[in-house]
Amino acid sequence: MKLPRLVLAAMLAGALAACGAPSPGQGPRPAAAQTAEIDQSRQLLQELRAKNMLVEGDKINDYMDAVTARIDAQRGDGKSRLKTFIIKDADANAFTSGAGYVFFNAGMLAALENEAQFAMVLAHEIAHEDLGHVSAGMAKRQQVGIASAVASIGGALLGVPGDITNLVVGTAGQAYYADFSRDQETAADRLGMRYLAKAGYNGAEGAKSFAVLKKMYGDNASIFAGHPTSSSRQADMQRLAREEGATEGRVAASAYLGKTNPLRKRVVNALEQAGKDGPLLSQMRANLRAAR
Ligand SMILES: [Zn+2]
Repeated sequence: MKLPRLVLAAMLAGALAACGAPSPGQGPRPAAAQTAEIDQSRQLLQELRAKNMLVEGDKINDYMDAVTARIDAQRGDGKSRLKTFIIKDADANAFTSGAGYVFFNAGMLAALENEAQFAMVLAHEIAHEDLGHVSAGMAKRQQVGIASAVASIGGALLGVPGDITNLVVGTAGQAYYADFSRDQETAADRLGMRYLAKAGYNGAEGAKSFAVLKKMYGDNASIFAGHPTSSSRQADMQRLAREEGATEGRVAASAYLGKTNPLRKRVVNALEQAGKDGPLLSQMRANLRAAR
Protein backbone atom coordinates (compact mmCIF):
# COMPACT_ATOMS: atom_id res chain seq x y z
CA MET A 1 0.00 0.00 0.00
CA LYS A 2 1.02 3.58 -0.43
CA LEU A 3 1.45 5.19 2.92
CA PRO A 4 0.43 8.83 3.02
CA ARG A 5 2.84 11.17 4.65
CA LEU A 6 2.98 11.34 8.38
CA VAL A 7 1.14 14.03 10.18
CA LEU A 8 1.28 15.77 13.48
CA ALA A 9 -0.97 14.26 16.09
CA ALA A 10 0.68 15.20 19.34
CA MET A 11 -2.49 16.85 20.60
CA LEU A 12 -4.39 13.66 20.04
CA ALA A 13 -2.01 11.52 21.98
CA GLY A 14 -2.09 13.99 24.85
CA ALA A 15 -5.81 14.42 25.03
CA LEU A 16 -6.63 10.76 25.11
CA ALA A 17 -4.89 9.16 28.03
CA ALA A 18 -1.75 7.52 26.99
CA CYS A 19 -0.43 5.80 29.81
CA GLY A 20 -3.48 5.51 33.27
CA ALA A 21 -6.26 8.12 38.06
CA PRO A 22 -6.92 6.34 41.63
CA SER A 23 -7.39 2.72 40.73
CA PRO A 24 -10.60 0.99 41.71
CA GLY A 25 -8.78 -2.25 41.04
CA GLN A 26 -9.60 -5.04 38.70
CA GLY A 27 -13.15 -6.18 38.31
CA PRO A 28 -16.43 -5.33 36.65
CA ARG A 29 -16.81 -1.68 35.85
CA PRO A 30 -20.00 0.41 35.85
CA ALA A 31 -21.95 0.06 32.63
CA ALA A 32 -21.97 3.82 32.11
CA ALA A 33 -18.17 3.96 32.15
CA GLN A 34 -17.94 1.12 29.67
CA THR A 35 -20.44 2.80 27.37
CA ALA A 36 -18.50 6.06 27.54
CA GLU A 37 -15.28 4.26 26.66
CA ILE A 38 -16.88 2.49 23.73
CA ASP A 39 -18.36 5.76 22.46
CA GLN A 40 -15.06 7.59 22.82
CA SER A 41 -13.06 4.87 21.13
CA ARG A 42 -15.47 4.46 18.22
CA GLN A 43 -15.64 8.20 17.69
CA LEU A 44 -11.89 8.45 17.68
CA LEU A 45 -11.52 5.58 15.26
CA GLN A 46 -14.13 7.06 12.94
CA GLU A 47 -12.36 10.42 12.92
CA LEU A 48 -8.95 8.90 12.32
CA ARG A 49 -10.32 6.87 9.41
CA ALA A 50 -12.14 9.85 7.96
CA LYS A 51 -8.89 11.80 8.00
CA ASN A 52 -6.90 8.92 6.50
CA MET A 53 -4.62 8.85 9.52
CA LEU A 54 -4.54 5.08 10.05
CA VAL A 55 -2.38 2.39 8.47
CA GLU A 56 -4.93 -0.34 7.68
CA GLY A 57 -5.17 -3.38 5.41
CA ASP A 58 -1.41 -3.79 5.33
CA LYS A 59 0.69 -6.86 6.15
CA ILE A 60 1.94 -5.08 9.24
CA ASN A 61 -1.63 -5.03 10.59
CA ASP A 62 -1.86 -8.83 10.29
CA TYR A 63 1.40 -9.18 12.19
CA MET A 64 0.27 -6.78 14.92
CA ASP A 65 -3.07 -8.59 15.20
CA ALA A 66 -1.27 -11.89 15.81
CA VAL A 67 0.79 -10.40 18.66
CA THR A 68 -2.32 -8.65 19.98
CA ALA A 69 -4.18 -11.99 20.13
CA ARG A 70 -1.35 -13.52 22.19
CA ILE A 71 -1.65 -10.77 24.82
CA ASP A 72 -5.45 -10.66 24.68
CA ALA A 73 -5.64 -14.37 25.50
CA GLN A 74 -3.98 -13.71 28.90
CA ARG A 75 -6.50 -11.13 30.16
CA GLY A 76 -9.30 -13.36 31.46
CA ASP A 77 -13.02 -13.23 30.83
CA GLY A 78 -15.35 -10.27 30.67
CA LYS A 79 -12.95 -7.87 28.97
CA SER A 80 -13.40 -5.89 25.78
CA ARG A 81 -11.51 -7.61 23.01
CA LEU A 82 -8.08 -6.06 22.52
CA LYS A 83 -7.62 -4.23 19.20
CA THR A 84 -4.57 -2.35 17.96
CA PHE A 85 -4.31 0.45 15.42
CA ILE A 86 -1.44 2.33 13.77
CA ILE A 87 -1.52 6.12 13.51
CA LYS A 88 0.55 7.85 10.85
CA ASP A 89 2.55 9.88 13.31
CA ALA A 90 6.34 9.74 13.58
CA ASP A 91 6.34 10.52 17.30
CA ALA A 92 7.12 7.43 19.38
CA ASN A 93 3.96 7.05 21.41
CA ALA A 94 1.17 4.65 22.31
CA PHE A 95 -2.09 5.09 24.22
CA THR A 96 -5.44 3.51 24.99
CA SER A 97 -8.85 5.18 24.64
CA GLY A 98 -10.62 2.36 26.50
CA ALA A 99 -12.90 -0.44 25.24
CA GLY A 100 -9.84 -2.48 24.27
CA TYR A 101 -8.54 0.03 21.73
CA VAL A 102 -4.80 0.59 21.79
CA PHE A 103 -3.20 3.01 19.34
CA PHE A 104 0.44 2.92 18.30
CA ASN A 105 2.09 5.75 16.49
CA ALA A 106 4.14 4.62 13.52
CA GLY A 107 7.12 6.21 15.26
CA MET A 108 6.77 3.85 18.22
CA LEU A 109 6.75 0.79 16.01
CA ALA A 110 9.81 2.13 14.17
CA ALA A 111 11.73 2.75 17.39
CA LEU A 112 11.17 -0.58 19.16
CA GLU A 113 13.68 -3.35 18.55
CA ASN A 114 11.75 -6.60 18.78
CA GLU A 115 8.38 -8.24 19.32
CA ALA A 116 8.88 -8.65 23.07
CA GLN A 117 9.29 -4.86 23.43
CA PHE A 118 6.20 -4.20 21.31
CA ALA A 119 4.23 -6.77 23.33
CA MET A 120 5.39 -5.08 26.57
CA VAL A 121 4.12 -1.64 25.51
CA LEU A 122 0.85 -3.19 24.37
CA ALA A 123 0.46 -5.19 27.59
CA HIS A 124 1.22 -2.09 29.71
CA GLU A 125 -1.39 -0.01 27.90
CA ILE A 126 -4.16 -2.61 28.13
CA ALA A 127 -3.23 -3.20 31.79
CA HIS A 128 -4.22 0.44 32.47
CA GLU A 129 -7.67 -0.32 31.08
CA ASP A 130 -8.00 -3.65 32.90
CA LEU A 131 -7.05 -1.96 36.19
CA GLY A 132 -9.80 0.63 35.72
CA HIS A 133 -7.45 3.58 35.19
CA VAL A 134 -9.03 4.60 31.91
CA SER A 135 -12.59 4.73 33.21
CA ALA A 136 -11.39 6.48 36.40
CA GLY A 137 -9.90 9.16 34.20
CA MET A 138 -12.96 9.40 31.98
CA ALA A 139 -14.72 12.18 33.90
CA LYS A 140 -11.65 14.37 33.71
CA ARG A 141 -11.17 13.67 30.04
CA GLN A 142 -14.80 14.38 29.28
CA GLN A 143 -14.28 17.86 30.68
CA VAL A 144 -11.58 18.30 28.08
CA GLY A 145 -13.95 16.65 25.66
CA ILE A 146 -13.47 13.99 23.07
CA ALA A 147 -14.79 16.43 20.49
CA SER A 148 -12.05 18.96 21.12
CA ALA A 149 -9.45 16.20 21.19
CA VAL A 150 -10.60 14.91 17.84
CA ALA A 151 -10.94 18.45 16.52
CA SER A 152 -7.29 19.00 17.37
CA ILE A 153 -6.39 16.18 14.99
CA GLY A 154 -8.33 17.92 12.26
CA GLY A 155 -6.72 21.20 13.23
CA ALA A 156 -3.28 19.73 12.89
CA LEU A 157 -4.15 18.33 9.49
CA LEU A 158 -5.81 21.45 8.22
CA GLY A 159 -2.95 23.58 9.45
CA VAL A 160 -0.27 21.51 7.75
CA PRO A 161 -2.05 19.32 5.19
CA GLY A 162 0.01 16.24 4.48
CA ASP A 163 3.02 18.03 5.83
CA ILE A 164 5.16 16.97 8.72
CA THR A 165 7.37 20.00 9.10
CA ASN A 166 5.59 20.75 12.34
CA LEU A 167 6.05 17.23 13.60
CA VAL A 168 6.89 17.42 17.23
CA VAL A 169 7.81 14.96 19.89
CA GLY A 170 5.46 14.73 22.84
CA THR A 171 4.83 18.30 23.93
CA ALA A 172 1.14 19.16 23.79
CA GLY A 173 0.03 16.20 25.83
CA GLN A 174 2.57 16.21 28.62
CA ALA A 175 0.33 17.75 31.25
CA TYR A 176 -2.44 15.37 30.40
CA TYR A 177 -0.33 12.26 30.62
CA ALA A 178 0.82 13.38 34.01
CA ASP A 179 -2.70 12.72 35.30
CA PHE A 180 -1.68 9.14 35.71
CA SER A 181 -0.25 8.55 39.12
CA ARG A 182 2.98 6.83 39.93
CA ASP A 183 0.99 4.08 41.68
CA GLN A 184 -1.06 3.50 38.56
CA GLU A 185 1.99 3.27 36.37
CA THR A 186 3.60 0.83 38.77
CA ALA A 187 0.42 -1.29 38.82
CA ALA A 188 0.23 -1.25 35.01
CA ASP A 189 3.87 -2.30 34.81
CA ARG A 190 3.19 -5.26 37.10
CA LEU A 191 0.01 -6.48 35.39
CA GLY A 192 1.51 -5.83 31.96
CA MET A 193 4.53 -7.93 32.86
CA ARG A 194 2.22 -10.71 34.04
CA TYR A 195 0.41 -10.73 30.69
CA LEU A 196 3.74 -10.73 28.89
CA ALA A 197 5.06 -13.66 30.91
CA LYS A 198 1.88 -15.71 30.45
CA ALA A 199 2.04 -15.06 26.70
CA GLY A 200 5.51 -16.62 26.63
CA TYR A 201 7.52 -13.47 26.00
CA ASN A 202 10.90 -12.60 27.44
CA GLY A 203 9.96 -9.98 30.04
CA ALA A 204 13.54 -8.89 30.67
CA GLU A 205 13.79 -8.00 26.98
CA GLY A 206 10.29 -6.50 26.96
CA ALA A 207 11.27 -4.19 29.81
CA LYS A 208 13.96 -2.72 27.59
CA SER A 209 11.21 -0.98 25.60
CA PHE A 210 11.32 1.66 28.35
CA ALA A 211 15.10 1.91 28.03
CA VAL A 212 14.70 2.49 24.30
CA LEU A 213 12.25 5.33 24.96
CA LYS A 214 14.46 6.80 27.65
CA LYS A 215 17.40 6.82 25.27
CA MET A 216 15.37 8.98 22.90
CA TYR A 217 13.49 11.22 25.28
CA GLY A 218 15.24 11.10 28.60
CA ASP A 219 12.65 11.13 31.33
CA ASN A 220 10.36 13.39 29.31
CA ALA A 221 8.63 10.75 27.23
CA SER A 222 4.88 10.94 27.69
CA ILE A 223 4.83 7.29 28.55
CA PHE A 224 7.04 7.99 31.57
CA ALA A 225 4.71 10.55 33.10
CA GLY A 226 3.96 9.86 36.72
CA HIS A 227 6.97 7.61 37.04
CA PRO A 228 10.00 7.85 39.19
CA THR A 229 13.17 8.33 37.19
CA SER A 230 13.32 5.82 34.44
CA SER A 231 16.51 4.25 35.65
CA SER A 232 14.81 3.05 38.82
CA ARG A 233 11.86 1.97 36.71
CA GLN A 234 14.21 -0.15 34.65
CA ALA A 235 15.45 -1.90 37.76
CA ASP A 236 11.83 -2.37 38.93
CA MET A 237 10.82 -3.82 35.59
CA GLN A 238 13.71 -6.26 35.58
CA ARG A 239 12.74 -7.35 39.08
CA LEU A 240 9.15 -7.86 37.91
CA ALA A 241 10.41 -9.99 35.03
CA ARG A 242 12.24 -12.22 37.51
CA GLU A 243 9.23 -12.41 39.83
CA GLU A 244 7.00 -13.43 36.95
CA GLY A 245 9.53 -16.00 35.74
CA ALA A 246 9.91 -14.14 32.45
CA THR A 247 13.66 -13.80 32.10
CA GLU A 248 13.54 -16.13 29.11
CA GLY A 249 11.05 -16.61 26.33
CA ARG A 250 10.10 -15.20 22.95
CA VAL A 251 12.02 -12.12 21.74
CA ALA A 252 11.51 -12.36 17.95
CA ALA A 253 13.80 -9.53 16.88
CA SER A 254 14.23 -10.49 13.23
CA ALA A 255 10.54 -11.24 12.73
CA TYR A 256 9.62 -7.87 14.26
CA LEU A 257 12.21 -5.83 12.40
CA GLY A 258 11.37 -7.54 9.11
CA LYS A 259 7.63 -6.98 9.43
CA THR A 260 7.92 -3.38 10.57
CA ASN A 261 10.76 -2.26 8.30
CA PRO A 262 8.67 -0.98 5.36
CA LEU A 263 6.84 1.30 7.77
CA ARG A 264 10.11 2.21 9.52
CA LYS A 265 11.65 3.35 6.23
CA ARG A 266 8.75 5.72 5.68
CA VAL A 267 9.00 7.10 9.18
CA VAL A 268 12.73 7.66 8.77
CA ASN A 269 12.18 9.36 5.41
CA ALA A 270 9.54 11.59 6.92
CA LEU A 271 11.76 12.60 9.82
CA GLU A 272 14.71 13.24 7.50
CA GLN A 273 12.61 15.38 5.18
CA ALA A 274 11.47 17.36 8.17
CA GLY A 275 15.07 17.85 9.25
CA LYS A 276 14.43 16.09 12.54
CA ASP A 277 17.74 14.66 13.59
CA GLY A 278 18.50 13.29 17.02
CA PRO A 279 18.29 10.17 19.15
CA LEU A 280 14.87 9.15 17.80
CA LEU A 281 16.16 9.00 14.24
CA SER A 282 19.40 7.34 15.34
CA GLN A 283 17.43 4.59 17.05
CA MET A 284 15.30 4.00 13.96
CA ARG A 285 18.35 3.94 11.67
CA ALA A 286 20.01 1.40 13.92
CA ASN A 287 16.88 -0.76 13.61
CA LEU A 288 16.96 -0.38 9.82
CA ARG A 289 20.53 -1.66 9.77
CA ALA A 290 19.73 -4.51 12.14
CA ALA A 291 16.89 -5.62 9.88
CA ARG A 292 19.21 -6.18 6.95
ZN1 LIG B 1 1.38 3.89 31.61
